Amino acid sequence: MSGLAGVRFWRETKSRYNLTGNRCGVCGTVFFPPRPVCTRCHRESIGRMEEHKLKGTGEVLTWTFVHEPRPGFEIQVPYILAMVRLDEGPALLAQMVDCGPGEVRIGTRVHSVFRKIGEEGKSGVIYYGYKFVPD
Ligand SMILES: [Zn+2]
Repeated sequence: MSGLAGVRFWRETKSRYNLTGNRCGVCGTVFFPPRPVCTRCHRESIGRMEEHKLKGTGEVLTWTFVHEPRPGFEIQVPYILAMVRLDEGPALLAQMVDCGPGEVRIGTRVHSVFRKIGEEGKSGVIYYGYKFVPD
């Protein structure tokens, strides 16, 4: 892996592992995944973005069934994919687990859980990341 790709991979992996975003030190806006510059303050926020661990709580904005499996991801289809608005502000797409379709509605309160998301063939590398369950 080249240097740049390695750094990017690590940053994304860390975010996915810890649900870590960042927060603008000027206006307080929280981003996930982390952004180098605040979308509101632009240049003013340079050097003032701080790491911010998200609580992993929020609510469902919208959701859908996914019927196509993603290569490399061990997810049984169909599964529920939800757009979750975290309490800190950012929205993200994540799989809903441990629940049926009747338990997920717009506005349903959810929290994140840490689960296996995939496995890389014979190398046996297993990836973990966040998923969400209803409260
Ligand atoms: Zn800002």
